[in-house]
Amino acid sequence: MTSQTNYKRILLKLSGEALAGPSGYNIDPAILEQYSKEIKEVVDMGVQVAIVIGGGNIFRGVSGERSGIDRVQGDYMGMLATVINAMAIQSSLEKHGMYTRVMSAIKMEQVCEPYVRRRAVRHLEKGRVVIFGAGTGSPYFTTDSTASLRAIEIEADVVLKGTKVNGVYTADPMKDPTATRYTTISFDDVYEKKLNVMDLTAFTLCQENDLPIIVFNMNETGSLLRIVKGDTDTGTLIS
Ligand code: UDP
Repeated sequence: MTSQTNYKRILLKLSGEALAGPSGYNIDPAILEQYSKEIKEVVDMGVQVAIVIGGGNIFRGVSGERSGIDRVQGDYMGMLATVINAMAIQSSLEKHGMYTRVMSAIKMEQVCEPYVRRRAVRHLEKGRVVIFGAGTGSPYFTTDSTASLRAIEIEADVVLKGTKVNGVYTADPMKDPTATRYTTISFDDVYEKKLNVMDLTAFTLCQENDLPIIVFNMNETGSLLRIVKGDTDTGTLIS
């Protein structure tokens, strides 16, 4: 661990949608490039980085259901979509000189390693960025739940949820111009005020295991590094 940070190991959750850039679909090379640079700054500090990436830019189980695809089938399609995103990030991180492993909750040995907790921890200890693909491997879950679960399993110090908004607000800042941002808030307050941080399964997992969450804007240059360095005015800390 470096003296510049309190974090030894972080789990970074990125949504698939964010990876798509303004179009909302597919993978935007400019976003990949930006994310890789931001992640490298943190890796270079000696922080161990694990990543969970969503699949919403390619496929979501629920939307599949609306188009006539069975929910469970759609969820598996969504999980496979996360592997595509994980591979894209892997490739980009390696281009920027980082060592990486993709570990999938659904076995696909020609493409990536199967998820084995002890191996994931070993990779992290060796300084490799570990990207968890295929969600939890089970339908009816989300990649937010995957982020909470994997973070607990690998004993990460914090879940950093990168979004398009720079924290948790009193109301939706896109709709309500008077909304203000919390710099810190308790799990109980988030729950009581029904603030939208993560789905309840993901949120409860963190709460029950005393795992703090920081919500921040991953598209704001330098914010990931600032958070890792302990800047309490970037994002919202939920603990
Ligand atoms: N999914 C799933 N189980 C998991 C994780 C994901 O079934 O453990 C499926 C689910 O259909 C979800 C899709 O994968 O809609 C993509 O994940 P998510 O919607 O969480 O991606 P994001 O919104 O972060 O882009």
